[in-house]
Amino acid sequence: MKGWGAVSDFDGTITLRDVGDHLLLHYGFADKRTIEESYSLKVRVEDFMKRAFAGAALSERVIADFVRERVKARRGFREFILFCEANGVPFEIASGGVDLYADPFFAKHGVSVKSFFGRAKVVEGGIKIDYPFLRRTDLSSFKASRVARMKRLGLKVVFFGDGPNDFKAASLADKAYATGRLLRLCRERGVPASPLTDFTRAAAYIKRHS
Ligand SMILES: [Mg+2]
Repeated sequence: MKGWGAVSDFDGTITLRDVGDHLLLHYGFADKRTIEESYSLKVRVEDFMKRAFAGAALSERVIADFVRERVKARRGFREFILFCEANGVPFEIASGGVDLYADPFFAKHGVSVKSFFGRAKVVEGGIKIDYPFLRRTDLSSFKASRVARMKRLGLKVVFFGDGPNDFKAASLADKAYATGRLLRLCRERGVPASPLTDFTRAAAYIKRHS
């Protein structure tokens, strides 16, 4: 399977629901309208996350339990990770989400993956988020830059995403799997993308095109 690399979004892509949104809604730290507005192309996801979680008084324990009990992985995710490992396909996650919920998720599924997440710290009255990898760029460009980097290494790249901030990366990839708002955006703008249902299809696609 040499010749391919994979980059993926996390929230709503690897997980079936956006974990950040789900947490904020579940514990009443945001309402549906605020969440909906955060998906405007004009809003930076990283700014929204910092703002929304600043007032979310949640402990690490509450978040970890929430992930274990409520967060579901998209079908074929673990198998896809193992497929990539076995076949030398570099796989990485570029996310506007945070380590506080990503770490328990990966622990639950028994996988470790190269990834970029915001660093979240529980502070008085809320959660402080920092994005060390976004000091000189925004999330959408960063995701695209990870795809571009693999391409420079001579790889063909498959990308997975669900949000407007995944659009640049999806446009650059050799093969994009999209769901939700990203799939609609790709269709509106004529960017080829296959519907992301489960990860098994992507493994089959890579095998066929290697
Ligand atoms: Mg997402």
